Amino acid sequence: MRSAALRGLNLTFVFLVPFVGAVGAAVTLALGLVTGLHVALLIIGFLVSGLGITIGYHRLATHRSFEVSPLVKAVLLACGSTAAEGAVIDWVANHVKHHEHSDDSQDPHSPLHGFWHAHCGWLMGFGDIDPERYAPFILRDPTARAISQTFPIWLAAGYIIPFLIGGWEGLIWGGFFRQFAVQNVTFAVNSVCHRFGARPFKTTDFSTNNWVIGLLGHGEGWHNNHHAFPWSALHGLRWWEFDLSGRVILAMEAIGLAWNVKRPDSQQIQRKLAHPEILPAYAHMARPRGQIRVEETVR
Ligand SMILES: [Zn+2]
Ligand SMILES: [Zn+2]
Repeated sequence: MRSAALRGLNLTFVFLVPFVGAVGAAVTLALGLVTGLHVALLIIGFLVSGLGITIGYHRLATHRSFEVSPLVKAVLLACGSTAAEGAVIDWVANHVKHHEHSDDSQDPHSPLHGFWHAHCGWLMGFGDIDPERYAPFILRDPTARAISQTFPIWLAAGYIIPFLIGGWEGLIWGGFFRQFAVQNVTFAVNSVCHRFGARPFKTTDFSTNNWVIGLLGHGEGWHNNHHAFPWSALHGLRWWEFDLSGRVILAMEAIGLAWNVKRPDSQQIQRKLAHPEILPAYAHMARPRGQIRVEETVR
């Protein structure tokens, strides 16, 4: 049930803190208080929080598109927690509901119900969705439960660490403004990538591939690819679809930190292409991966 306290928390972390970050960044820049250290804290924090969301929360916890040890999973989910997008159990429940109801009346964040609603307005109700109904599998995951229960610690670490390193300007740039940047890139996947861009695959929603969000969102902007193959650890499927998260997962696989990395083969791609004549662009995906178990499932 949506309580006043929950709405207050959503208002604080979705609107107030990021607003303070954006204004604070502009003011400290105008006053000449920003150094290379503060910019480095922003960039490193953007990568840690952002990849924690894309690799940890999204591709690992929600879609289970690859496997890792409990320790690596805990690290990825703790990094994702610093993005202030909610505890992983709630995030997963929201996202599973999005895939089950993409662009229909029950989608938590379809731009068919308004662009700004899809971007950030819907978050005033974040926490309303029942994980028991939409994501019982995540409730059975002891690592995800532990990181969810300790969510405030990881969230606080995302502010305290840049403050200890860079002082108040470090807190603004590496904490609040970093949060503004990471959140709005995630939000743009929900708003922009169901509205603007190309649709190479036939899907039952309005998901699109958008190269700007692909670059800013560590590969998440190849969102039509993702809706076509939700279980794939790779969202960039053609050579020019740069997918930083996918590259990191492949690097983890190469050094033994990740395994059972799922990806579509050329036959699966062919079945879903809106224009099958463009199949040669996906030729590099044809390599058979004998040990990979690929399921036609939204999770
Ligand atoms: Zn979507
Ligand atoms: Zn997804």
